[in-house]
Amino acid sequence: MLISPLSSHDSDTSLWSQCLEIIEQIVGPSSFETWFRTTHLAFTSQKTPCIEVPNQFFADFIEEHFAELVSKVLKENGINPAGLAFIPSQRNWKALEPITESLAESRDRIVPRKIEKQSQFHPNYRFETFVVGDSNRMAHAASLAVAEAPGKTSFNPLTIYGGTGLGKTHLLQAIGHYALTETTVENVLYMTCQEFTNEYINYVTHKGDSTSFYRKFASVELLLIDDIHFLSGKPGTQKEFYRIFNNLMLQNKQIVLSSDRAPETIPDMMDHIINRFMGGLTTDIQPPNFETRMAIISKKAEIDGIALPDEVAHFIAGYITSNVRELEGTLIKLIASASFTGKDITMDVAREVFGDVLSRRDRRLTNEFIQKEVASYFGISANQLSAHTRKRDVTVPRSIAMYLCKKWTKQSLRTIGLDFGGRDYSTVIHACKKIEAEIETDRQLRQDIAQLEKTIEPLV
Ligand code: ADP
Ligand code: MG
Repeated sequence: MLISPLSSHDSDTSLWSQCLEIIEQIVGPSSFETWFRTTHLAFTSQKTPCIEVPNQFFADFIEEHFAELVSKVLKENGINPAGLAFIPSQRNWKALEPITESLAESRDRIVPRKIEKQSQFHPNYRFETFVVGDSNRMAHAASLAVAEAPGKTSFNPLTIYGGTGLGKTHLLQAIGHYALTETTVENVLYMTCQEFTNEYINYVTHKGDSTSFYRKFASVELLLIDDIHFLSGKPGTQKEFYRIFNNLMLQNKQIVLSSDRAPETIPDMMDHIINRFMGGLTTDIQPPNFETRMAIISKKAEIDGIALPDEVAHFIAGYITSNVRELEGTLIKLIASASFTGKDITMDVAREVFGDVLSRRDRRLTNEFIQKEVASYFGISANQLSAHTRKRDVTVPRSIAMYLCKKWTKQSLRTIGLDFGGRDYSTVIHACKKIEAEIETDRQLRQDIAQLEKTIEPLV
């Protein structure tokens, strides 16, 4: 993403404080402390609001769970939320200017290492907050073993794979967190594969060689790389990754990876990388069963200090079946809505909040259904389609989903826009026209749409 210079003034700070007060009332003190305490408001030169958050991890989470809320609160405080973005603050300045050697070096000097270490990990993603069930028992046990004795078990590398929202990132972060707090090692590095790739590209384009990039990993004792499937089809990055990987393995350093599918099924991945993965332990996480879902809901409520009646937990656990992230999102929505209206969380409140969704579900072919299909086809979450992100891996699926909604449901353009995070109907028209034009020339797009329509057509 290209970001034009951000500016932040005192008036923005006090405006944001006002917004934060409202947000705190809505999300409750514990979520507020976790997600909002350290955020700042700034504007691009085009006056687009940006919320600065500690790192990419926060950016993704807040965007997914709170984008709608933040937009609403900004609007109520007189700020046009159009184009709202959540930006990792460390990354800001990187995007602002081309990195030069001296800049990069001076940054390394000013950032105290300790802060960097801690800020890699989300405080809630620990073993203590991870609920163990049949679906994740093995992955959990292996993660704990590795965290207790990095590089000293036969689980090297440890690869955890499974569908989205099932706890892979949580476990990777828990390992890092544990290793640092229990000092089983000193030097831990957590990175998403996307960050790894971006940094690699940055080093290559700005410095012309990858040696300094390589150096970054030299003293790492525990390397956690999330979403390794992202390496698919990127031979240059794969090569560099392989080099770093081998070097660390030779020194008995621990490597933990996550992937959205079994490593051997990742397409366009070098065989020798796959073979290396297979040399350690590969373990999967499955969607949780009903009991585990109940336990997860109770745990989250406990962390948030919320009294959640059993029947409500039961209701949510029965309603969301495959994805813990959605389970959590649903709970957050319920908590927010209850505190908004000052009511306790009861079945009545739950029905009020989800009744709409449930009744829409009965009609089968809905915008929501199409969004879910498109999201899972492209390996993103359905919420992202409604969020205010402009990342290409979201905007393309979003346009396709809008196009399919228009073509197959009887919804008005206005309703479709509303179902995509309250967007204007003209945005829907624009997206549909774009897809209609591209479908003529883009074979891949035609294939994607044909594939998606296979699941839609039977419902018409
Ligand atoms: P993934 O990386 O597999 O897509 P995440 O690790 O981001 O999934 O998990 C999504 C959300 O669900 C996170 O907030 C995480 O804390 C939560 N979660 C997943 N599995 C569990 C679990 N077993 N116990 C508690 N929380 C969980
Ligand atoms: Mg993840």
